[in-house]
Order: sequence, then C-alpha cells, then structure tokens
Amino acid sequence: MNQMTQPADLDIDYGPLYAVRKKIFPQSVSGTFRNIKWALLVACLGVYYLLPFVRWDRGPNAPNQAVLIDFPNRRFYFFFIEIWPQEVYYFTGLLIIAAMTLFLMNALGGRIWCGYLCPQTVWTDLFYAVERWIEGDRRARMIKDKRKLDARRVVEIVSKHAIWLFIAWWTGGAWVLYFADAPTLVKELATGQAPAIAYVSIAVLTFTTYFLAGHMREQVCVYMCPWPRIQAALTDEWALNVTYRYDRGEPRVSIKKSEELRTKGEPAGDCVDCYQCVAVCPTGIDIRNGAQLDCIMCGLCIDACDTVMKKVGRSSGLIAYDTDLNVRRRLAGQKPIYRLIRARTVIYLAIIAIAGLLMLYTLATRSALALNVLHDRNPLSVALSDGSVRNAYTIHFLNKLNELRTVALEVDGLPDSVVHVVGSDIITVGPPLVALAPDQTREVRVLVTVPAGREIDKSTPVVFRTRDVVTGETATAQDHFIAR
Ligand code: SF4
Ligand code: SF4
Repeated sequence: MNQMTQPADLDIDYGPLYAVRKKIFPQSVSGTFRNIKWALLVACLGVYYLLPFVRWDRGPNAPNQAVLIDFPNRRFYFFFIEIWPQEVYYFTGLLIIAAMTLFLMNALGGRIWCGYLCPQTVWTDLFYAVERWIEGDRRARMIKDKRKLDARRVVEIVSKHAIWLFIAWWTGGAWVLYFADAPTLVKELATGQAPAIAYVSIAVLTFTTYFLAGHMREQVCVYMCPWPRIQAALTDEWALNVTYRYDRGEPRVSIKKSEELRTKGEPAGDCVDCYQCVAVCPTGIDIRNGAQLDCIMCGLCIDACDTVMKKVGRSSGLIAYDTDLNVRRRLAGQKPIYRLIRARTVIYLAIIAIAGLLMLYTLATRSALALNVLHDRNPLSVALSDGSVRNAYTIHFLNKLNELRTVALEVDGLPDSVVHVVGSDIITVGPPLVALAPDQTREVRVLVTVPAGREIDKSTPVVFRTRDVVTGETATAQDHFIAR
C-alpha cells in the first residue's frame, strides 16, 4: 500500500513493492456522501447518455444537434457556439480551465474529483450497484465467492456480466452519437448501415468500459492513473482530506471495554474498532492508517462511521474531511484552523476567471468573416511584356454565417494595382466580388498587377481586405508584393 506522510505511525511498515491483488467486496452504505455520489452519478450519466439527442436550431443550413463533433465538415458545435479548426485555441482555453479546476478541487478537498466525478469512479459505482443487486451485499458476495459453483450461482454470474456488457455497450453507443446526427446514426446502427468506424468504436469502448469498471475497478485508481501521484505533489497541509481523527478515536476499544475504562477514568477512544469504514471502502483500505494514495476521498467511510457513531450514541465526525494539522492541533489542545482561501486557491480561481472571461470576450467579438493569404512561391513575381509586374496568391475565405454572402476584395498598400480573382463568377466594374456559400470556406487564386512605371520597393507590405457588400463586415490579412 502506498503511503504518504503519516503523523501517527512514522515507523509504519510500508510492505513489499508488489502485492497480490486482494478481492474487495465493498459493503453498501447510506448517508450524506453516498447520496451526493448517487446524485452526481445520475447527473453525469444522464448528461452523457442523453445529450446527443438534445436539439438546437441553428437555421436551415446547419445541423440541429446541440453538441456535435462534425469531423467531415471540420466543425465542433456546442449549443450556440460553433468552433472552426482555425479556432482551436478555444480548446486550449478549455484545457487550461479544466486543469485549473482540477487543481482547485485538489487544493480544497484532495482527490474529490476521483471520489465523485471521475468516469472510472462513476461507472465502477454503477457496476457495483448491479453486482449488489444480483449477488447481494458484501457478506453474501464473500460467501458466494468461496462457494462451489451451482446452477443458481452460474445464473447470477451470467446475469451480472450480461448487464455489465449491456451498460458497456450502451456507453460505447452513446459515445459515437456525439460524432454524427444521433437519431440518424441510431437508425443506421440498427439496420447495419452505419460506417464501419462506428461499430469499431462501439466495440472498443464496450470492451474498455466492461474491463475497467467491471474487472479492474480500484486497480485503475491505485496503479494505472497518474493523477494520485501528481495530486500528492500538488497538495498542501490545508487541503481537506478524508481524515480519521485519531485524537478522538484512539485508543480503539470495544463499546463494552470503553465504558469500563471510562468508568475507571482511563483513556478510551471513540473508535469501536468495528471495521465498518474498511468494509465500505471501494479501494479496500483502512483510513485509520492515515492519508494514503489509494484513498479516492469518496467519503463513504465517513457515512459508515457516522452510522456507527449514531448507533452507539456518540457524536458523528470521527472520520471527516479535515487536515492532519488540525488533528495535531486538537491533540495539543489548540483550536483547529481551516484555510480554504489561500494563495493557491486564489491563483487557481483567478486563472479560471481570466481564461473564462477571455474566451467569452473572443466568442462575443469573433468575426463571422475571415481570410488567409498564401503567396505563390514559384515564381514569386512575374514581369509581363507590357512592363507591369504581377504576383499571384491563394486566398482562403471563411464564411461562418449560415447564409450566402458576397464579398469584395481589395488590396491596400499598392496604389493603382489591379486585383483579379481567377474564375470570378461575378462580373463587376469595381473591386472583384466573390460569392461565399453558407458556413463554408472557399479558396480562390488572386492575381495582383502593378502597372509599368510605378516605383515600388523590392518587397512591399500589402493588406488584403475583404468586405461583405451587404453588412459591411470586413476581414484583413497581410502579405507582401515582390517586385523583380
Ligand atoms: S478510505 Fe474512505 S474516502 Fe478513502 S477511498 Fe476508502 S471509503 Fe473512500
Ligand atoms: S467505522 Fe468508525 S468506529 Fe468503526 S472502525 Fe471505522 S473509525 Fe472505528
């Protein structure tokens, strides 16, 4: 078992580096933290399974799925937000916010992400619920695990794995619905007409969900996931971790013995050594040994212990979200101190706020029209027989509106130059016009010619300016005009 600093037992035996897996049979428990976990489980799974079916009207030329990753058209839709590949920096912003939120959670309550919101925890919890429903609670499962197989037991095992596989398949099925119109894809999947990649993705996710949540369980949290190690390096003494208050619990003795000792005026802790906190733990640890990397901070041992304390008529909170520092302070007769607002929580919050506001601002002020320019490399410049000089460019227009637009193209920085869009479909006497289809990009070749006799530098900076002829919206891009 991996151990972090442990004030009560500094001479603890850390055991061998390798240990054979012990089967864990977590007992059901009820209480505040279990209720919070159930509520989050329903909310997270509800969102995950149902979100692809939520519709969002974006007009006649756009998909009406609220959340859609449209790879063929290279778009990401999230309700009223539409992200183009050129705007991938929004994902950077989201990643920064996600990382800082994780760090903030860690600074406030240790591994609470792991205990309540991590997909591994949520699906494992669901798989445990199925297991308990079919095979019974901890004691029954432990007995059945040792018993020889009979027909009834085989039926139980088959039923459990069948339901697990169904949940896993449903999980994989829901995932692919985020990548295509969900109702259409459901029909195609049912009739065998969906793309092969959809079936492969569902198969892979079915296997990983079934294997990780049904078989690997706590092994993922303890051995596979890097977050506990990173989290341990990021935490400080003020983070609230699930803590056994040994100042109050020790020495542990049975209820009967504690009464005898207390009558004699001898010390007797509140812990009655009932092992209920260990029985309910999904990673099978004893929180009374101190803070451990294996603990996912799910709080279920708090519920178990509070239930025991209530039964024996003692106050709850023998195990609670607390700090070792406070336990030591109580032992020294001092008042506990809680510091939720400190430098690191303020910094994390500030970064989240700045990144969020920046993203909101850029989203609110983003242009629905853009262009990129690429100068021809070979030849850079062409001298024509009449003495004029011509440069060629490839211009990429982006029309982010769901409507047809006509834009004019001009070049600043080269007086008297002539701009010609090759194959332009709109004839005009002014600047050339280009038609842009709704929510599409368009690439055109553009020739810029400077008449003979004009004085120009060897390399002149130019600005390509495009303007919507109806709305007046403009976009610009810079490049150079090369003289020979
Ligand atoms: S020790 Fe308590 S909080 Fe930690 S994983 Fe076990 S039950 Fe959850
Ligand atoms: S549940 Fe509470 S009383 Fe029972 S062993 Fe754990 S800490 Fe002690």
